Amino acid sequence: MLIAVDGPLASGKGTIAKHLANWYHLPYLDTGLLYRACALGVLQSGEDPSDEVAAAKSAKAVDRAALDHFQLRSARIGAAASKVAAIPAVRNALMDYQRRFAEQDGGAVLDGRDIGTVICPKADVKLWIYAPAEVRATRRHKELLERGEDISKDEVLAQLRERDSRDAGRPYAPMLRAVDAHLLNTGDLSIDAAFEVARRIIDAAQAEHS
Ligand code: C5P
Repeated sequence: MLIAVDGPLASGKGTIAKHLANWYHLPYLDTGLLYRACALGVLQSGEDPSDEVAAAKSAKAVDRAALDHFQLRSARIGAAASKVAAIPAVRNALMDYQRRFAEQDGGAVLDGRDIGTVICPKADVKLWIYAPAEVRATRRHKELLERGEDISKDEVLAQLRERDSRDAGRPYAPMLRAVDAHLLNTGDLSIDAAFEVARRIIDAAQAEHS
């Protein structure tokens, strides 16, 4: 079974996708890490994340090992990731890795921004996870403070809005809800409750297909 999970920053998609992968015993890929690893490579070579040549070169060098770097989850890398992600050559360079992961026997769970629309348009189940910007900013702020980053909630909200609009506004493979995606608003839900809803959607979809 192939499950595509998309949605904006701090919507809960990563947590839900990970729980689903555990529950259904499927391999899991957080595709945001690919863009983050690409961005880290660009910054480490002293280049600008919006530089198409530098970003494409870095994307081609991304491999499994690059996804474990401890710096990848920082706010700085997230912002740079959203810049490299707007470059078509970067997205194309990272596509094979994602498709190969998705096509493995038995299926997989992938989360990102364009999984249901571009990477796995034929996924068995697609979820679009979302929540109001204020709620997402509160979650993300807490996460960053726990990581030891010094950032205010207002800054997080401003960065989140900027990232949402860049991700949704880019012309090539924008962050987009697939028309056949199931919607899940996590705004008022605990992690456990959101996972339960997602699991029920998937069980129902499986029952329908079998
Ligand atoms: O999900 P995460 O915050 O780690 O993603 C970082 C950035 O990578 C996103 O803001 C987005 O620009 C980009 N991304 C993307 N497509 C994906 C996954 C992530 O464009 N499938």
